[in-house]
Amino acid sequence: MGQTSIGAVVLAGGKGTRMNSQVQKQYLTLAGKPLILHSLEVFEQSQVDKIVLVVGQGEKPWVDREILGPNGFRKISAVAEGGRERYHSVYAGLQALQGCDYVLIHDGARPLVTEEIISRAIQGALNYQACVVGMPVKDTIKKADPDGFAEESLDRRCLWQIQTPQAFSYSLIRTAYDWIMEKEERQAGITDDAMAVESYGQCGVKLAKGSYENLKVTTPEDMVIAEALLKKRDSLERR
Ligand code: C5P
Repeated sequence: MGQTSIGAVVLAGGKGTRMNSQVQKQYLTLAGKPLILHSLEVFEQSQVDKIVLVVGQGEKPWVDREILGPNGFRKISAVAEGGRERYHSVYAGLQALQGCDYVLIHDGARPLVTEEIISRAIQGALNYQACVVGMPVKDTIKKADPDGFAEESLDRRCLWQIQTPQAFSYSLIRTAYDWIMEKEERQAGITDDAMAVESYGQCGVKLAKGSYENLKVTTPEDMVIAEALLKKRDSLERR
């Protein structure tokens, strides 16, 4: 049997409206470089064989020129243009990723991903076909009723907050997404890739440890936290 090939789809096709910024969040400067470069560099260094970057409609020429051109990535095999919802962008990325046995799907808005997290996700996918990283929740989580009252307190001992990367056998996630994209009603509320596999229903999704640092930059205060964590990491590496 030939070597197992592993691809990654890195998503940067969102509008990032919760950031309240003129520049889309994935291109804001974070610790001295565009936010998206942080996770692309980690994937480039990792055991992944090739990377598809998904950007917004019409952004490809600008991203090629301003982001990728000056940085000499060897593993980026394609830049695809995404769509209105995250799942449209993932589907475009999966279609552009050819000939991989396994795929990791990663939110480019998570700049603090590490090679260790990527390895744990890959190992989980090799063992279970589907593996997503996350961490047990720290806060008490309550379900709100439509009037804004607490309806129910959920048992936090079995609650995880889910992150990316999410890793799958390519044929499993591609079949699940083909099935989801066939009918609009199957797409309601799909906010991550594990949900696509869960609703397709043929395979359980294993949870593996991510990191509390692996945050998704969504609102302006996340930039401050991400910058502080990246600086701390940088100073530890220099020692
Ligand atoms: O919107 P959300 O924060 O969940 O986005 C997670 C990731 O998905 C981000 O990296 C964002 O750029 C990407 N995304 C995308 N296409 C969309 C929406 C989000 O590539 N239509």
